[in-house]
Amino acid sequence: MNDIPELSLQNVRIANPEHVTEVIQNMIRDGQNKLQVVADFDRTLSKYTHRGQICSTCHNVLEEGHVLPEFYKDEARALRDHYFPIEMNPKLTIEEKIPVMVEWWTKAHDLLSKCHITKDDVRIMVENSTARLRDGCTWFFDQLQATDIPLLIFSAGIGDVIIEVIKHQATLHDNMKVVSNYLEYDDQGKMTGFQDEMIHVYNKNEGAIHDSDYFQKLEHRNNVILMGDSLGDLHMADGAVGVQNKLKIGFLNVKVEESLELYMKKYDIVILEDETLNVVNAILRKVLQSKQ
Ligand SMILES: [Mg+2]
Repeated sequence: MNDIPELSLQNVRIANPEHVTEVIQNMIRDGQNKLQVVADFDRTLSKYTHRGQICSTCHNVLEEGHVLPEFYKDEARALRDHYFPIEMNPKLTIEEKIPVMVEWWTKAHDLLSKCHITKDDVRIMVENSTARLRDGCTWFFDQLQATDIPLLIFSAGIGDVIIEVIKHQATLHDNMKVVSNYLEYDDQGKMTGFQDEMIHVYNKNEGAIHDSDYFQKLEHRNNVILMGDSLGDLHMADGAVGVQNKLKIGFLNVKVEESLELYMKKYDIVILEDETLNVVNAILRKVLQSKQ
C-alpha cells in the first residue's frame, strides 16, 4: 500500500484499504505545507509497555518514586482500579461513561491538590518514572519541527508532566502545543489546584482549544493525521477547519480481541500492541519526500 511496507505488517489492521490508500496518496500529493498533526499523549505518543513492562501514564507518574505520600498512592490506585475498567469497557456507551470519568478526574485532582507538590517535585517524579515516549518519537518530533508542521498534543493527563517527559526524553519544539490539565501554583510555588476547565478522555471535542483560534490559523492545512488510543481521541480534531483528508491512526494496547472490531470501524489504521511510532513515521516520511 502506497509503497509503505509498514502498512502490511501483521499487527497493522485496516478495514478499508482503498480509503487509506487514497487518503495517504492525497497527503503525499499535497505535501508538508498542507499537513497538521493532532495526537493524544498517554499510550499514543507514550508507550503502553516498554520491553513488555507496563509504563506509567501522566497520572501514574505521581504514584511512582518517593515524592508523594503513601495515602496519595493508595487512594489514586484505588480510584484507578475502580474507574479504568469502566473507561475501557467496550459494552458501555460514551454517554454512559462521561459522568463516571468526570467523577474520576475530580476525585483524582482533589486528591493531588492535598499534596501541595512543587514544579521541582514534578520534574523529579518524571525523571524517575517509567513513562516512556514510543521509539521513534524523537525523530517524529524533530521532523515535524524541521518542516514546520504543527503538532497539537491533546491530553486528558497532566500538562506539567507531559512537558517534563518530552523535555527529558526528546525536545519540546515551538511547533508543538500541549493542551491538557495544568497545575496551578501559589506564590510559594506549591500546587493549589488545576487551571481552567477539566479535560477528561471524553470531552476532547469541546473546551478551550476548539474555542480558540488554533484551528482557524491552520485552515490552509487541510490534511490531518490524528493519533489516539481511546475512542474519545477521535474527536480531538473536530474543531479543525476545511479538512479534506483525515487519517485516523489508533493504537490498540489492551483488550485487543474484544475491541478490535470497534477500533477498525472507528480508526482508519489500527496498530496492535506496538512500542514504536514506526508506522506513523513511515507515512510521514513519504509525505516529506513528496515534491511539493
Ligand atoms: Mg491515551
